[in-house]
Amino acid sequence: MRRWFVILVVGALAGTASAAAQRPRPGEGREPEFPPPSILEYKPRSTLVVPAHLVPRARFPVVDFHGHPPALVSDEAIDRVGAAMDSLNLRVMVNASGSSGDRLTSQIAAVRASRYRDRFVMFTTLNLRDVGPGSGARIAAQLEADIRAGAVGVGEIGKGFGLSARKADGTRLKLDDPELDPVWETAARLKIPVFIHVADPAEFFQPIDFQNERWLELALFSNRRYNDPSSFPAFEDLMAERDRLLARHPRTTWVLAHLGWHANDLARLGKMFDRMPNLYAEVGAILYDLGRQPRTAHEFFIKYQDRLLFGKDSFQPDEYPYYWRVFETNDEYFDYYRDYHAFWKLYGMGLPDSVLKKVYYDNALKIVPGIPRDGFPK
Ligand SMILES: [Zn+2]
Repeated sequence: MRRWFVILVVGALAGTASAAAQRPRPGEGREPEFPPPSILEYKPRSTLVVPAHLVPRARFPVVDFHGHPPALVSDEAIDRVGAAMDSLNLRVMVNASGSSGDRLTSQIAAVRASRYRDRFVMFTTLNLRDVGPGSGARIAAQLEADIRAGAVGVGEIGKGFGLSARKADGTRLKLDDPELDPVWETAARLKIPVFIHVADPAEFFQPIDFQNERWLELALFSNRRYNDPSSFPAFEDLMAERDRLLARHPRTTWVLAHLGWHANDLARLGKMFDRMPNLYAEVGAILYDLGRQPRTAHEFFIKYQDRLLFGKDSFQPDEYPYYWRVFETNDEYFDYYRDYHAFWKLYGMGLPDSVLKKVYYDNALKIVPGIPRDGFPK
């Protein structure tokens, strides 16, 4: 009864258009005559013919703010990473696989003794296990010692902080736990950036149904499923904890990894930038989101050109040119390198040189003390 009533009212409002809409569309309801391919099998060849501009080398020297190279402990390892960096025009890599104490100093020593001595800088890591009374002061002291030993920032603080790390009393360590305040204030005093990865894509916290954009990834990786509320906090709870943490430490330079997982909602990140002048963000592993909204992303990069940093995350030399192509060209409808991130194609953002320079190196030089300046345009 009620449904008919709604249809009648809508029909009266929309007139003849609604009558047309109620007729079945041609071909509607047909079943394929062949067995449909699976999500893994269907790889249609694009027939689109448009100009293509591959970009094997970045147009300007780059700081990779989110580097995870193999441990830089031998000349061999350093030379292998360094040679790949040369071919990509990666001038400096931040080793964001933070290390502390001896592991930190041995890598610093190995880099200094190598012929790539001015091409790597090291971040330190924080031991956030079993936090309890007194932990904040202890971690802050370790941070200070590591910076004295040559580290130039903190991070990458991994997603385990917030998602799964427990306190000594067994409860979840919240991102804004006041015990850790001395750590963030120490970073502010030392004028070093804190590079933090909070949560993971919001879809990882959602039911794994056929509407989930990351269905394939969630089906492939059991350790990325956070949709059980008895085991994990909700995505928005983590975002709220993160935002309280950032707001409480306005003198600390914060860098959100992966654009804070807001690459699919850049306006949300923009509001955070507007509110917090101490906030920066890095673009690692979210290229699929920028490349599907090249116009919105272009505008966003223009507006927030002083707050964005290039970073790649996993060290796969053949993947960097996809970033250069999205940032530098206006190419259309080209392949991404990872099908379980995205089943769609990418488009170029065509960023102007002045913005490329800031994102590629200038913003990193501004917020990370001690990156060697050689090799960057004046
Ligand atoms: Zn990382």
